[in-house]
Amino acid sequence: MTTLNTSVSARAKQFEIAQVAVPRPVPGPLSYRVPEALAGKIKVGSFVRVPFRRSTSEGFVTGFVPASDPSLAGFELKEVSELPFESAVFSRKDLEFYSWVAGYYQLPLGEVFHCAFPKSVFRIPKKARASRAENKIEFTPSKDFDFTPDQSASFARIQAAMASGTPKSFLLFGVTGSGKTEIYIRAAREALARGKGALILVPEIALTPQLRRRFEERFGDEVAVLHSGLTEKARRDFWWSIRRGERRVVVGARSAVFAPLENPGLVVVDEEHEPSYKQEDRLRYNARDLALVRARLFGAVAVLGSATPALETFYAANSGKHELLTLGSRPNARPLPSIEVVDLADEPATARNTDNDAPASALIGAKMRQGLEETLARGEQAMVFVNRKGYSNFVLCADCGHVPECLNCSVSLTYYRSASKLRCHYCGFEIDAIQTCAGCASHSVRPMGIGTEQVERELARTFPKARIARLDAEAASTTQKLEAALARFQSGETQILAGTQMLAKGHDFPNVTFIGVVLADLNLHLPDFRAGERTYQLLAQVAGRAGRADKPGRVVLQTYMPMHYVIRSSTAQDFAAFYSEELEHRRAFGYPPFSRIAQVEFRALKESAARREAERAAALLAHLQGAHPGGVAPAFTFLGPAPAAVAKVANRFRWQILLKSEKSSSLNAVIKTLRREGARFIDVDPVSTL
Ligand code: ADP
Ligand code: ZN
Ligand code: ZN
Repeated sequence: MTTLNTSVSARAKQFEIAQVAVPRPVPGPLSYRVPEALAGKIKVGSFVRVPFRRSTSEGFVTGFVPASDPSLAGFELKEVSELPFESAVFSRKDLEFYSWVAGYYQLPLGEVFHCAFPKSVFRIPKKARASRAENKIEFTPSKDFDFTPDQSASFARIQAAMASGTPKSFLLFGVTGSGKTEIYIRAAREALARGKGALILVPEIALTPQLRRRFEERFGDEVAVLHSGLTEKARRDFWWSIRRGERRVVVGARSAVFAPLENPGLVVVDEEHEPSYKQEDRLRYNARDLALVRARLFGAVAVLGSATPALETFYAANSGKHELLTLGSRPNARPLPSIEVVDLADEPATARNTDNDAPASALIGAKMRQGLEETLARGEQAMVFVNRKGYSNFVLCADCGHVPECLNCSVSLTYYRSASKLRCHYCGFEIDAIQTCAGCASHSVRPMGIGTEQVERELARTFPKARIARLDAEAASTTQKLEAALARFQSGETQILAGTQMLAKGHDFPNVTFIGVVLADLNLHLPDFRAGERTYQLLAQVAGRAGRADKPGRVVLQTYMPMHYVIRSSTAQDFAAFYSEELEHRRAFGYPPFSRIAQVEFRALKESAARREAERAAALLAHLQGAHPGGVAPAFTFLGPAPAAVAKVANRFRWQILLKSEKSSSLNAVIKTLRREGARFIDVDPVSTL
């Protein structure tokens, strides 16, 4: 009897002190005593409220220690104050995943919780929690297509992997419109049939209502959609219905990689190369990479889909890390659009900087004009693409050369003609557009460079009778505006849509048969090692918008660099050619996939302070390198310190160091040291180094 009692109380003692991760920037979990009333109720995965500094914080229980634990000696511990929900909000498996993430990015667990649990999730209204009726979906089941042979073969491999129950990853490599989404849908159904869930990540789901609809048509009430455009209530309802296992098909953007699916059998990352999978603040994770980790930990099958895979992903597939599945053609043998290159050097006065009185042909060359004319005459639709919003990059005084710049950032202000403003793209600062130069009071202020607004205006001048609209982050500043603009294009009300890469995002408009690319090389020379890859991806995506139904598509692409390998391979739609040339550049400079990189940034109000911190870190790094005795080659290299490409943003000066290492573990060790030394802004695996 007595022995039994002791062992029960010994076990109870194990749970005396809860380790609580708070979503605040503190190093590790904090220790709190479990009050009598909550003994046995608080578990790993419990959501709790705890006293924190002078107020309370929410927190997540990650483990327990007995009160006798030596690490607690001498501490006066506070008590957990509240347990709002009986059941745990995450499982031990989830915790394993969160811990992996925290370890990889060398940040406290609390930062991971901050991403995994949107604030609204725990703001529960007094009465009944969400019922599934509240996010009711109009559900008209649509029928399946007969798979093409390529689709069948790919699907069979995915199906076999799911049946085998061992984790496995695939790269589904297929041109736009080759039927990848159809495969995701059927693989998701397969997961459901096995009693599991499916997690489908798509870049910027808010931009792709059509894709969302396709899932809703097939899965009805099983679908939960997670993205930043949701109301708090909708997000909360979806979140809890996933947690409760009521909705098992999750379609969502980046942060959905943390969706509380209990048992995912399938994890899909559509357009896996998309930079929007990268979160750019606090926990700078890449949802594509985390999706692979989550799939592995949960024993799920991962499918990365793309027409233009990230170099790292294709390299990984070639080295056997993912199985490569290829969709060679579009269903029903729809041809890829033909791409014609126009060398702007041969096209007088085309796409040059223009002033207000430029001729109507300034941006739209002869071939593009003719193509648009023919498209309109056939009653079909066109998209005209330029990867820059606003009217012009900047304005310049023709008399003294003065360029208005942001007061807070070291960049020039972009001109928005219809709003009559000059705006900063980094911090949002704006002023009224000026007629007279602030430097010399001259009236010769000219717009320089191109933007969507200018293209829209040129189109309207060239085709006065056509119905023309613009789609960019300014014109579609809300989900509603975006959906309305897309609906007008879908219905045919808009004939020519001019816009930025927003046009390129997965839309499926059957009547679009012509695409114009105003200046293909616009971003090719950005000082970033991925500039070529981004340009290739963007051009391929844009071209893929043409000829999606049974009409053939045509693309006219204007460039100053027709012989550049990126332009050549994208016009030939030859990913293999692009890949092999780009890979050699990466190899030569030791960039990913031949290394892992991390960018360390130092920000300060004073330039000298940012510089001093960067130099201090560089000295430390040099010391670490030298610390390898006996002439062993250092396990990492670094570039810098140097001022960032945009040296000042929002009044903070920025200095950078780029770390490179062939070995993940070495890079991790260096990052750990830097974090310990107080470096706050470290971007592990950056998608852009600008
Ligand atoms: P992707 O995701 O590769 O861009 P989708 O799955 O969206 O391609 O397919 C492109 C278009 O072709 C869609 O309209 C889709 O409904 C249709 N489609 C897909 N598979 C088939 C098929 N096997 N037969 C006929 N049409 C198909
Ligand atoms: Zn001037
Ligand atoms: Zn600014």
